[in-house]
Amino acid sequence: MNIEIWQGDITRLAVDAIVNAANSSLLGGGGVDGAIHRAAGPELVAHCRTLGGCPTGEARLTPGFRLPARHVIHTVGPVWRGGNHGEPDLLAACYRNSLALAEAHGLASIAFPAISCGIYGYPLEQAAAIAIGELRRPRQSGSSLEKAVLVAFSRDMAVLYERLLSGESPAS
Ligand code: ADP
Repeated sequence: MNIEIWQGDITRLAVDAIVNAANSSLLGGGGVDGAIHRAAGPELVAHCRTLGGCPTGEARLTPGFRLPARHVIHTVGPVWRGGNHGEPDLLAACYRNSLALAEAHGLASIAFPAISCGIYGYPLEQAAAIAIGELRRPRQSGSSLEKAVLVAFSRDMAVLYERLLSGESPAS
């Protein structure tokens, strides 16, 4: 699976699935969640209402409705509470479970926002390292996944992803 970095608004991407950094109600919120619901149209929240929420670290698939992406994979990142409340494992689970769900549906391309890096307050560099570590895990043979896009909303996040993906040590 190739890993790419792209800077911009995830709702513009015509991939098989964009991932939503949702909250556990799955009924919409601010940040990327709000942007995805606005772009997908009211059908998305209506569909999400039938799902009964989603625990932190898990993922749920819906259609993309009016989005250029065919599907939305909703995952619930951990709220950063200092790092000793299971945050790294839960964030890794978001990436792992989203990838597994995409594979279970035979999808080839998936795009991730920086889960938990906004309102949920996860330190950016630690979150980016977890994201890249999970995307780099070898897929099982026969995996449908060909491409994962790390979507950076800001230039700073794009630079961080580029640095970690190229294996450079942190700038001092
Ligand atoms: P969380 O509650 O998981 O922290 P947020 O939506 O607050 O989620 O932020 C997650 C990340 O998504 C942040 O890095 C934020 O800058 C980014 N983001 C916000 N809007 C968009 C968008 N339209 N496309 C891509 N990324 C976005």
